[in-house]
Amino acid sequence: MRLSCACVLLVALLSGSHFCLAQGGAGPKESKTYVIRAARMFDGKGERVVAPGLVVVSGGRIVSVGAGAGAPPAGAEVIDLGDATLLPGFMDAHTHLTGEASDDWKQDELDSLKKSIPEQTLDATEYARKTLLIGFTTARDLGSGDLVDVGLRNAIRNGKVWGPRMLVAVRAIGATGGHCDPTGGYRPGIFDRTTGISDAVADGPDAVRAAGTYLVPTLMAAVGLSERLEKGSYFPPQVEAKARAAIASIRATFQKAVAKKVRIAFGTDAAVYPHGRNAEEFRHMVELGMRPVDALKAATSVNAELFGVSDRLGTLEAGKLADIIAVPGDPTQDIRQTERVFFVMKEGVTYRNDRAGAKP
Ligand SMILES: [Zn+2]
Repeated sequence: MRLSCACVLLVALLSGSHFCLAQGGAGPKESKTYVIRAARMFDGKGERVVAPGLVVVSGGRIVSVGAGAGAPPAGAEVIDLGDATLLPGFMDAHTHLTGEASDDWKQDELDSLKKSIPEQTLDATEYARKTLLIGFTTARDLGSGDLVDVGLRNAIRNGKVWGPRMLVAVRAIGATGGHCDPTGGYRPGIFDRTTGISDAVADGPDAVRAAGTYLVPTLMAAVGLSERLEKGSYFPPQVEAKARAAIASIRATFQKAVAKKVRIAFGTDAAVYPHGRNAEEFRHMVELGMRPVDALKAATSVNAELFGVSDRLGTLEAGKLADIIAVPGDPTQDIRQTERVFFVMKEGVTYRNDRAGAKP
């Protein structure tokens, strides 16, 4: 999608006793030791949820996992989450955290030209915060302009803004006239391609080299487009035709991929639908035939492999960064529990715990 962009510097930090973000100019660093307990856990790579859930965290990393870890270390703070399942922080392989499509195509076009970079940046901080607080601790962001994604990534990394750890593509690549070409539909010459162009254009097989090994389905992109079409939102005719064709084919494509055991990663094209609904992708994957445990792996260990970060993220294992989330109940029994994340820890820092104060 076409996106506008900006650069981030202001912060709207949540406050209250349930939140404890380390303050200061450097990134949030958590040196405390925690013992996180819950009725169950899914480690991101196994075949089933196991009971009980127990993870010991120190210095922002996982020290030990499972009931065999022994007695809690002296001085550790115990976080008991009760009837819940611990999971590795979710990862989204296709986001656009620097923008969001509305129901008004023409206004979005105008905003991309008129909205100041600071205003776009402030919007982006809110999208990033929402995404983190629903359990997505890592996002691969695929296309931004004016280096806003780089600024947002750095501000999050430095602890200025709440958001998922970001891997950024900077510019999306598409064909002339395609949806990565911001000059499409305007009078020729109105834009100077050397300045102000958000995306990158490349034509032909020699210019575009797509590497081949995971399918990132983005079923939620079809959901978002369908919802806007059902509301009667305006799209240019050629865009609407393309959207309808994509919606018509995306579910069948996904089912074929499941049947043929294609490696399926988890990505949603967040921005095509409103930010904060990323986890709805899980239920669409399961409704189309994917096992719940495989959908959970797609958003954790499979995405970590795809991103090249499986040495430090994607599973609940000793030595990994302490990105840990919790959902009520058992998500392999009811995949929609993934939409009810109530505990979010990233690198040992707790950003959300709706059950704070629960007694062991
Ligand atoms: Zn996209």
